[in-house]
Amino acid sequence: MNTDRIDFISAYCDRWCERCAFTQRCSAYACDVATAMCDGDLAAGIELAVGVPQPAGGGREKAVGDRLLEQYEEPSAQEIAAAMEEERARAERVESAEISQVAWTYMMLSHEWLKRRDPPPADADPVVREALDIVAWDSTLVGAKLHRALLARERSAEEAWPDDDPVQNDANGSAKVALISLERSESSWRAIAQAGRDAQAADLEALAARLRALVGGEFPHAMAFVRPGFDEPWR
Ligand code: SF4
Repeated sequence: MNTDRIDFISAYCDRWCERCAFTQRCSAYACDVATAMCDGDLAAGIELAVGVPQPAGGGREKAVGDRLLEQYEEPSAQEIAAAMEEERARAERVESAEISQVAWTYMMLSHEWLKRRDPPPADADPVVREALDIVAWDSTLVGAKLHRALLARERSAEEAWPDDDPVQNDANGSAKVALISLERSESSWRAIAQAGRDAQAADLEALAARLRALVGGEFPHAMAFVRPGFDEPWR
């Protein structure tokens, strides 16, 4: 077991592993690499990457998961139907939120713009190449992170726990990742627009800015969320 790994680091990252400084301390990355080494066998990959925890002094104790399973009571068909209805209504509220609508429009327009564009030539301005890489990566990531943030907020409103933290929660963590990506995408669209006198890239910069303002308004504490590893320079 690699004890130097940082718990939950991959829950609030941008998943851009090839640019990440924490690959050696990330279980998700280790699992991805190990799964590829095991020809796509996820179970074998996880075991190779993180192993099976064993107590120091001998026989394996009953795992927490096993104990929870013993206490688990099968829900009734009525309870399952009610939970599914709740989930459906929740997903509908999330999809109809203004943030979701703007994020969807932003993703579609960005993808269309990127599809119409030829790959940059080898001697292209490195600033523009970098900007293109960023908008391409973030255009999909942002929508996914915002969906998760909205869903987490809906869930926490309905299933509030007394010790839920008003800042350090999944909704704020996911919104923070989206906000960081939107900020760098805005600058990237600006660089692309200025380099190519591209009015559509300028429109996409404005749309990213609008979305960022919306998210900032809806999740005012998001930037105070401490992302494991990334916001902990002492690690
Ligand atoms: S924390 Fe880094 S290595 Fe792990 S999944 Fe995220 S980007 Fe990849």
